[in-house]
Amino acid sequence: MALSVEEADTLLWMREEEKLAHDVYLALDAQWDLLVLQRIAVSEQRHFDALGGKIDRYALADPVLPGAGVFSDLELQALYDELVASGLESSAQALMVGATIEDLDILDLQQAIDATDQPDLQRTYGHLLEGSKNHLRAFVRELRALGLDYEPQYIDPLFFDAIVGL
Ligand code: ZN
Ligand code: ZN
Repeated sequence: MALSVEEADTLLWMREEEKLAHDVYLALDAQWDLLVLQRIAVSEQRHFDALGGKIDRYALADPVLPGAGVFSDLELQALYDELVASGLESSAQALMVGATIEDLDILDLQQAIDATDQPDLQRTYGHLLEGSKNHLRAFVRELRALGLDYEPQYIDPLFFDAIVGL
């Protein structure tokens, strides 16, 4: 079955968004050597690969460019540059960047689920969504251990509280 233009665009966007998460975490881990970044980067590689499988299945052209930190989508490129620059300021800021990425990921995945009626895409996005919630919890836990907290920038604050707890 073919995807609509909107479903295809969303899948390609999510594929690069998973690359962004992976590449940012590795860039920041190179600076700060944080176990949470290493662990979650491995998970992002799996998310990225899962969407690559869907791109193959629907015979779409993969937007992914070779090399870390390089993106076809200019908006994602600008976001990558901004997030890495921010996360290099301090290790606490790197954790804030992690929470920011997961916050955006959760919003985009929720919207992707709502905007498709393909069961296999809903299933894959749903799996990635649960992973992103775990990642958000992990980053917020690390921040709270430092006496800091994260204010959601993308998802609803009540949804955020439901995910991470008070
Ligand atoms: Zn992910
Ligand atoms: Zn994640």
